[in-house]
Amino acid sequence: MNDLQNKIRNRIQAAQRVLVTSHVRPDGDAIGSSLALALALLDAGKQVQVVLSDGIPANFKQLPGADMVRTKAEGEFDLIVSVDCSDLKRIGDALDGYHAPDIIIDHHITAEGFGTLNLVEPEAVATASVLTRHMREWGLTITMPIAANLITGLVTDTLGFRTSNTSPESLRQTADLMELGVDMSALYYRSLVRRTFVEAKYWGAGLSSLERADGIIWATLTIADRKASCYTGLDDSDLINIVSSIDDAEIAIMFVEQNAGKTKVSWRGLKPHVDVSQIARQYNGGGHRAAAGAELSGSLSEVREKILEATRKILPGHE
Ligand code: 5GP
Ligand code: MN
Repeated sequence: MNDLQNKIRNRIQAAQRVLVTSHVRPDGDAIGSSLALALALLDAGKQVQVVLSDGIPANFKQLPGADMVRTKAEGEFDLIVSVDCSDLKRIGDALDGYHAPDIIIDHHITAEGFGTLNLVEPEAVATASVLTRHMREWGLTITMPIAANLITGLVTDTLGFRTSNTSPESLRQTADLMELGVDMSALYYRSLVRRTFVEAKYWGAGLSSLERADGIIWATLTIADRKASCYTGLDDSDLINIVSSIDDAEIAIMFVEQNAGKTKVSWRGLKPHVDVSQIARQYNGGGHRAAAGAELSGSLSEVREKILEATRKILPGHE
């Protein structure tokens, strides 16, 4: 075990009251990783709170431990762990009044290392993969409910094992976790396939806004679209995955109008030579080569114009 792993193990072993947190608008990896770690810490006899500032979306509410999730921390902690979150501001207000995380566990190439001990493994397909690699070294046991959460992170961040970084290791980890008795296909269906009628209507609004120019394909979701379809989330309900499956573009972008003059931008690089993490970072966001995001202030149309122009410049032949 290397020095960092030793230090993480010691911090975890010594802790009594642990706060586990992750990023705003949590996805399957944020939730699966948080719950997996929290359940293992509970099994190890510690008190644990899972704090996600946006709570937990409906399609992940059946995960083991999901009822532990709260939106505000309460009490004192001798260990704060952040999973799957590459910068402090993306934690939202979950840590208001508390110190910065002691341990960061992440797989984002843009991770800023804002903790005291930073375990960042960018070649891992998911933070759940990082946890699967190391939890046992830290003295934690992976039981069936924990495996279900880890598999959820692995399945969702690889979009069902079809992203270009899907590795033999990620498939082996999933196979090993399945052997603990996890119903992988049910988790896969619930986290990636099943959609509500409301979500489909919301997608419809986004799809009807599709545009394409200069190697970029983009779609927009407004506050009005959310109201009209009765969608209560602040995200794109993963519409970007549909938009980025459309042929004949190099980059797909999703613009989602937030409340209070902010716009969430998601980029997907559709060809291996395209790296969208850098442009996201330029706008105070982050992510991976093929998938990145940022939140920008300004009206939807201003942000869209600015981002389309800047994105055009990173495509060869369009600068
Ligand atoms: P999405 O576009 O689906 O929200 O996110 C794509 C990837 O970019 C994910 O790995 C996500 O964690 C990262 N990402 C999205 N938005 C932000 C952001 O505002 N800041 C940072 N640092 N990363 C982001
Ligand atoms: Mn992740």
